[in-house]
Amino acid sequence: MYHELIQPEDTIVAIATAQGVGAIGVIRVSGTKAFEICDAIFKGKSVQQQASHTIQYGHVVNGTEIIDEVMLAVFRAPKSFTTEDSVEISCHGSVYIQSQIVNLLLQHGARLAAPGEFTLRAYLNGRIDLAQAEAVGDIIASQNQSQLNIAMHQMRGGLSSQLNKLREDLLNFISLVELELDFGEEDVEFADRTELRNRVEQMHQFIQPMINSFQLGNAIKNGIPVAIVGRPNAGKSSLLNALLEDDRAIVSDIAGTTRDTIEEEIHINGVSFRFIDTAGIRQTTDVIEKIGIDKAIQSISKAQIVICIFDMSNTSIDELSNDIEIIRNNTSSAHLLVIGNKKDVCSSDQINTFETYLKGASLQFAAVSMLNRDSSDTRALRQVLYDIMQLKGIDSNQTIISNARHHQQLLSASEALVTVLDLLQNGNSGDILSFEMRRAVNAIGDITGTISNDEVLGNIFGKFCIGK
Ligand code: GDP
Repeated sequence: MYHELIQPEDTIVAIATAQGVGAIGVIRVSGTKAFEICDAIFKGKSVQQQASHTIQYGHVVNGTEIIDEVMLAVFRAPKSFTTEDSVEISCHGSVYIQSQIVNLLLQHGARLAAPGEFTLRAYLNGRIDLAQAEAVGDIIASQNQSQLNIAMHQMRGGLSSQLNKLREDLLNFISLVELELDFGEEDVEFADRTELRNRVEQMHQFIQPMINSFQLGNAIKNGIPVAIVGRPNAGKSSLLNALLEDDRAIVSDIAGTTRDTIEEEIHINGVSFRFIDTAGIRQTTDVIEKIGIDKAIQSISKAQIVICIFDMSNTSIDELSNDIEIIRNNTSSAHLLVIGNKKDVCSSDQINTFETYLKGASLQFAAVSMLNRDSSDTRALRQVLYDIMQLKGIDSNQTIISNARHHQQLLSASEALVTVLDLLQNGNSGDILSFEMRRAVNAIGDITGTISNDEVLGNIFGKFCIGK
């Protein structure tokens, strides 16, 4: 369906700005008849005569009736987002005016664009590849600097160039092996097996950092899930409130930001940390004891960082080590941060005992007091949370996979490469090697859209808003 959607003679139109009332609204038109159709509704200089990348002042009219006073920008093929002749009309932001202008354009021969169709055209016309097209969606949806960095890197083609290089290597390998097959009867083996193995190993190693980056990429895209667990009265809600309040204090410095709707999330240097199941934390101690352990275990298993908080004045080493074991048994890769609370009512000996024990267990520990909302402790904790993610390797120049579809395809490619290594090890023939290798090529091609099917395209572009 998505391939059929593109009819070069179709000129598409949509409102490109957000739904609702704004100071201005932008209407996008793209296709071979874009200029002609716009001329039919624009009173000003002829659109068809305009040079590319120029803006004209004029009026949108319906016959003699003036609809709005507008600015009209012209982009001539191929120097436009879609590579087609395109026009952007900036009008007043009234919903009524915008829909009237769109209706007029429809009456003069344009058709309403499907969701993401402008970006789809940019892709089908070869201006960007599929991974870059998806990045357009991510850029629009990004809410912090880290999300934006990843999406920008992807849109500029960082991911695509790495994948294209890999694809080329894979295809070279296949041609080597298939060339050998062509000479099969002469029983030559001019692709040296050790050399082939080395090549496959290199490709496999090339993919691994991308695959591993998904956990981080996904966390940055969707917020890093954090669980706060601890016994009743350990200070869980005090800690949560302190972190949230501190965040509000920082964020409220920025004019116009309201944080009431996303309460259980904090931002540290552009990375969001999401607190899981905070409803449980906010309920009374009695209820927590009743719904108890199960709920805590659920949130531990979903978290990427688990904060285990305990009351140093009222917890034995045995109790603590028991709790830590439960946490460790229920998570595989989460980072565990142990917080000893209520240092204000503890002797330094007490604190030292915990410190020594946790150091021995190679666990990250911080002693704090949440009683007086001491903001130096809270700020230190924010820094600790951020540093944990740094440890896991944020590098802004690195390609970070944040898209589940890409991750899945990279895993398939990696699996195929492992199979090829096995086949080489067992002295299998070239035809099976090239068959497996093609699986890897297809998986990589699927990410950049070298190979794409309607279902994949439908999934991607169907999620875009109309006008993008
Ligand atoms: P939760 O049950 O784990 O959520 O614990 P709360 O945050 O509700 O705290 C339990 C009690 O301990 C409350 O009365 C808090 O005021 C008190 N509390 C929390 N943090 C501290 C602290 O650092 N020092 C002292 N002395 N009391 C604290």
